[in-house]
Amino acid sequence: RILLTTVLNLQRESIKGIAITVQDITREVELNEAKSQFISNVSHELRTPLFNIKTYIETLHDYGEDLGLEERQEFLQTVNHETDRLTRLVNDVLDLSKLESGRSYSFDGVDLAQAIEQTLRTYQLNAKDKGVELIQEVAPNLPLVMGNYDLLVQVFGNLIGNALKFTTAGGKVAIRAYQLDAKPNSSSGTPREHSQLSQVRIEISDTGIGIATEDQHSIFERFFRVENRVHTLEGTGLGLSIVRNIIDRHRSKVHLVSEVGVGTTFWFDLAVFDEKTPPKLVDITIE
Ligand code: ADP
Repeated sequence: RILLTTVLNLQRESIKGIAITVQDITREVELNEAKSQFISNVSHELRTPLFNIKTYIETLHDYGEDLGLEERQEFLQTVNHETDRLTRLVNDVLDLSKLESGRSYSFDGVDLAQAIEQTLRTYQLNAKDKGVELIQEVAPNLPLVMGNYDLLVQVFGNLIGNALKFTTAGGKVAIRAYQLDAKPNSSSGTPREHSQLSQVRIEISDTGIGIATEDQHSIFERFFRVENRVHTLEGTGLGLSIVRNIIDRHRSKVHLVSEVGVGTTFWFDLAVFDEKTPPKLVDITIE
């Protein structure tokens, strides 16, 4: 799109000159459109749980005495679920807006083993409850990578949370980290031909429902969720856009390989931390 500005230079009723500025504002227009689309999507997503909460509370208030104990419990359970959904949504939206608000994050040497350990600790119980095996394969003596610790923990959490969500009992979820020049210690089927000495690869794989080829490029879009019966109340459709945003900030790219009914592997590479490069602040600006 083009913004055309015309300036007439009028002097004593006669036109002295015309200046025309042509400016490509496609990017600004697209950004504004994306922002209003986002706000309208958020409002829509917030409205549903709010509406449900209000309806159930009103029913309990007006007709609570006519309902049986079991029914009342069920209604309260729904209110509880919807509140959780609202909390997840608000947290995800806040995370995204923080990422895009232009604030700076300090990038330094990150100990991946520690970040992975911290993430897994929060998912251990969930995996046990679901009957899914949680596997951790972090190569010994992994070098530090250049990154932001908290943001990386968030990435691992989102990817492991998804992997667990879409994997049923008896399945496996694994997180692996290894330096690309080292010999791979497991066969996960991800491409390794572009190995570089100074990179660490992180893979999060599951034996879950998989993602159809036609959906694979859309899953990183905000609010996109594949239509399937696994979708009950969990999820906001924002998790992977947060992951992509953070990995972009690490000057890297998230890849995935997936097969329906077999499972999914997400992977990305991070640069090894160079002691000689001082820690830096990376500005997070709107994409
Ligand atoms: P959500 O909150 O719905 O999980 P995400 O942005 O994290 O949102 O993921 C978007 C969609 O991508 C999910 O709703 C799901 O359909 C699909 N997806 C993500 N991770 C996996 C996975 N490991 N296995 C199968 N499908 C997945």
